[in-house]
Amino acid sequence: MLKVRDIRTFYGNIQALKGITLEIAEGEIITLIGGNGAGKSTTLMSICGVVPPRCGEIFFRGTPIHDMSPEKIVALGICQVPEGRRIFPGLTVKENLEMGAFLRRDAQGIKSDIDHVFDLFPILAQRRNQAGGTLSGGEQQMLAISRALMARPKLLLLDEPSLGLAPLIIQQIFEIIKKINTESKTTIFLVEQNANLALKVAHRGYVMENGLITMSDSAANLLGNEDVKKAYLGL
Ligand code: ATP
Repeated sequence: MLKVRDIRTFYGNIQALKGITLEIAEGEIITLIGGNGAGKSTTLMSICGVVPPRCGEIFFRGTPIHDMSPEKIVALGICQVPEGRRIFPGLTVKENLEMGAFLRRDAQGIKSDIDHVFDLFPILAQRRNQAGGTLSGGEQQMLAISRALMARPKLLLLDEPSLGLAPLIIQQIFEIIKKINTESKTTIFLVEQNANLALKVAHRGYVMENGLITMSDSAANLLGNEDVKKAYLGL
């Protein structure tokens, strides 16, 4: 579904990605783990066109997207939930969801997708007329994921969904991530510092350090890998 070939991405003179190559197959949950500043968010932002790579190639279902605008990339079916959630605080939950469907014209489909995300996250149904900014951190994360789902993405990019949330809420969010993958057949690319949880829901994983991929294996093998245990699992 997605092929990333040797991308190099810069912020001015700072090189954040030093040649990243990875692949995601349809239906997979792939996780990218690594420490602070490794380049995980930059990898996601390069894929969705917000910080395009200076060189290298990215193909989505065979279409080159490395030179495409973020709007066109969204229209192809790639949707990102950025770190820090960034919902519209002054809009209600329902209005935030409607914003996620801004490229769609099928009013009936939009209505049934809102019902679907309310089934996934019943707390959002209760809060449907409440301003997004008044929600708790966990509820805002649920809203950010739901808003992305309203675009009916084929590939969902999640940046640190666990950041700053209580363990119980994180558990809940990861269960929903798994459900989104199995029930709506959405392929998921999950960037996480919480490597333990990410590797438990993912099929495969990549480890990133200092702008480079240093390891790639099945999630089960990475969970059992001594170097990964020491560096990222606190074991
Ligand atoms: P974190 O988990 O802390 O978000 P990360 O693995 O997602 O880290 P990135 O945010 O992709 O890492 O950052 C990769 C490198 O690029 C870091 O050295 C960072 O300082 C640098 N960087 C990120 N954003 C910018 C920016 N807007 N301007 C300059 N440098 C940046």
